[in-house]
Order: sequence, then C-alpha cells, then structure tokens
Amino acid sequence: MLVVEDFNDTVKCIKTATIQDGEPIMWVYSYLAHDVMFDAGCANAASDFKRIKNEYDISRIFISHAHEDHFGGLSVLADKCEVFAPKLAHDELMHPTELDEFFQFVWGQPKGIQSVNDMPKSFQVQELNFKVIELPGHHQHMVGFHEPEKGWLFSADAVPLPSKKYIAMPDENIPMMVDTMKRISELDLEVLFDAHKGPIIDPQEHIKRRIDYLTETQQRVRDLNRKGMTVKEIVAEMGWEGPWYLGLTEGRFGIDFLVKSMLHDKAQEQ
Ligand SMILES: [Zn+2]
Repeated sequence: MLVVEDFNDTVKCIKTATIQDGEPIMWVYSYLAHDVMFDAGCANAASDFKRIKNEYDISRIFISHAHEDHFGGLSVLADKCEVFAPKLAHDELMHPTELDEFFQFVWGQPKGIQSVNDMPKSFQVQELNFKVIELPGHHQHMVGFHEPEKGWLFSADAVPLPSKKYIAMPDENIPMMVDTMKRISELDLEVLFDAHKGPIIDPQEHIKRRIDYLTETQQRVRDLNRKGMTVKEIVAEMGWEGPWYLGLTEGRFGIDFLVKSMLHDKAQEQ
C-alpha cells in the first residue's frame, strides 16, 4: 500500500506498508521534496510505486541506508532517475540480500538496481540546500539530509521509534546511536522527518526522551554487569520480554543485542 500526503507546499510524505487484516503492519515514510526523494519505501508497494512514478516528477533519489524498508521501490523508480547512496550501501542496493520469510512478508523482497552514485557531501533542490550528515548507530553507514535554513532533517532511523527501545539488531551500536541523537539535538531543528513516525514538529522533547531513556538504561545495565550478572540475567532483571514477533525475526533482532551493545560498544570508532 502507498499513500501520498502533503506535509507542506514543498514536502510530500510517501507512506508505504504491507496491509494485514485491513491495517498497515508498520508504515515507512519516504519523502518527496520538489523532485527529489529521500528513501524509497518497501518492496511490497512496488505496484503502487509504478503509479506514482507517472504521477510525480522524480529526478533523484537519496538513500539513507541499505535496510529493505528504505530502498524497496528503487527497482521500479530507478530507470527514470539517479540514485545516490553511501558507498557501503551500493552493493546491497545492486544485489539485495535474500530476506527471511518474516521480512519478506513485512516489507517485501527488494530487487537490485543497475547502478548507484556516490553520496555527495551536499546538494541543492531548487531553493533548498542540503548537507549530508553521518548518522551512525542504527546502521554504520546511515546518513541524513539536513536543510539548515529550514531547520529540517530527513533522519531515516536515527531516532528510535519506541521511546523505550529494548530490542536491537546485532550491528546496532547503542552508545553511537545516543551520540548521534545528541548531535541531532544540537541542530536546532524545526522538523524531524522520521522514517517511521512521519514528520515531527519541534522534535527536541521527542529526541531528549530517547536520549535520557537509553542513557539511564545503559547505566543500569552496566551496574548490573559490574555486580557480576550475565547478559541473560540482566535481561531477566530488567523485566524485558520480547514482542510476539521476535522469534519470527530468526535472530535478526534480539534483546541480548541491545544489552551487549550497551556493555561493549563505544560511541566513537576506535
Ligand atoms: Zn534501518
């Protein structure tokens, strides 16, 4: 399913999702600013992307990171426009990983595209001047698109959706995610264009809540570890139980990944 909503005169939200029992499982937002698109939704909306491809003039697509819910529409759109992505994402965009059954159902299997351009440091879209900024943590190579004059940041998955995040992927770096959110808070934003919640106006409180929660949680996790508790014991002590679908992700998400990252990862590359 794909829904287009105007945010303002310049930006449109392009929401995609798989529908189950008449409801979207989870929306993922791409955005269209004039003729430039930020991310390209999920592959289960491929037929809808065919429709909007003729409806809107899209000349460039900037991909924040190579997770399947951010580039699933590329194979439909790419023949009509230029695609830009961080260097480390190129291979995945051209030869996407075969997803497990659960993620094929939730987002759909992306198809590869022929060519990807390197991500520039900055670019212009009519009156808008974007700076590409690194947003590591959720994904090592993730970038966002900042328009300082407007106070806009297209932030992809940099700010976690649940305010109390307790599951993670093995390559997520929680201290780095917190560090990235602190840098985002210093940008003095008017709108955070989040990939799963949609545009958030005056996002300071939204971001702060997540920084505070993860910082306090990390402190507790480290204290418990210092008392000699194992990762498993810490998970039990914190009272964390996985959501119903956790087993279905076949190890792509886990509570233990969050704990391990809080114990061992650093905010900066060493
Ligand atoms: Zn992601």
